[in-house]
Amino acid sequence: MSSNYLICTGCQKEYPLDRIFPRCDNCFEPLEVRFVSTKKFITDKALFSRNILEHYAHFYPFSEIEQKLSLKEGFTPLIKADKLSQLLEIDNIYLKNETVNPTWSFKDRGTYVGVQHALSLGCDTIGTLSSGNMAVSVAAYGARAGLKTIILVSADIPSEKIGPILIYHPILIKVSGDYGQIYYDSLKIGRELGIYFLSSDVPFRVEGSKSIAFEICEQLDYKVPDYILIPTSSGGNGRGIIKGFLEFYEKGLITKLPQFICIQLAGCAPIYQAWINKEDSVSTIKNPVAIDNAIANPFPPSGKALLRLLRKFRGIVTTVSDEEALSGQLMLAREGIFAQPAASVSIAALQKLKAEGVINKESRCVAIITGAGIKYTGILEKHNFNVAASTLEELKDIIISKLAD
Ligand SMILES: [Zn+2]
Repeated sequence: MSSNYLICTGCQKEYPLDRIFPRCDNCFEPLEVRFVSTKKFITDKALFSRNILEHYAHFYPFSEIEQKLSLKEGFTPLIKADKLSQLLEIDNIYLKNETVNPTWSFKDRGTYVGVQHALSLGCDTIGTLSSGNMAVSVAAYGARAGLKTIILVSADIPSEKIGPILIYHPILIKVSGDYGQIYYDSLKIGRELGIYFLSSDVPFRVEGSKSIAFEICEQLDYKVPDYILIPTSSGGNGRGIIKGFLEFYEKGLITKLPQFICIQLAGCAPIYQAWINKEDSVSTIKNPVAIDNAIANPFPPSGKALLRLLRKFRGIVTTVSDEEALSGQLMLAREGIFAQPAASVSIAALQKLKAEGVINKESRCVAIITGAGIKYTGILEKHNFNVAASTLEELKDIIISKLAD
């Protein structure tokens, strides 16, 4: 095998890079990319001048990239959240604001890198199985690349999430049945029909997520934070972020690793359940009840692989309730960021872990804000916002009384 290859995260079996099927033939665990660069440093120090595959070219196994594919994904802001620091009594909180990606979630990084791989293999059809964010992202990049795009969604997807997928003209199919089974069947059908299914644990999607870690290191001038808080559903993004820090560590660009905190919603927490029960496998959650299905995969395909990483690198897995996630959404809005509940669990977990004494006042924390609230406005009814009303005659008095509240 050459120095660039895919390796099974379970049994370490190696495969060539031009493989589409994302899992191991031997043990069926997800594969990941191994790429050995002879160069130590990133291509230049100027962020934003290039796209992620150009800027971090020495960490990706592409000999050439399709220039027209990029929608300027990644290079998202790292915002210091002083009001949250004051509120939660944690000195340094940073928000990695993934809501500003082209389709408003972190998924664009993995889609961009995955579609580059698909194009390099000459594929003309891509697809995904998604509850929302990934579907929008794959549909957008499929349109951009001029590829036929199959989007499978679960039958219970909220109706407001359908239109933002269809706007990009994919072939969209609502599939009823067990979500975990749909995932495996989609891989099988993809293999038979030659469709590159860019699902959550595809090696090159995970490669996209690792750029989140690279950027955080650069944005903090290589001073690694104590904690990285990662909303966790299928587990692919967490795998990518951890892989990114490991690659910078192995290259000597950083001198320590952060502690990785994965957060799930209590109503659908299969990785957390395996974590606290000290199990290696992840069991399917029957009848999950969670406020935002963007963080409610009942059978996370990368669950086992993520558990292995978290155990090896002193990770933490925790849960927050639906109510705490909604509270986190309101807290983030006070910093000017409108995140979806799935992304707001990072802030809810900061509050919880500080109260539990896991995170202390001096800790430096980076919360990954994975997706925008604009994706799921139906949920805002839960907040019971107050709206004042006025006639023109009363307006001045009402403003004065409201300002005094
Ligand atoms: Zn294997």
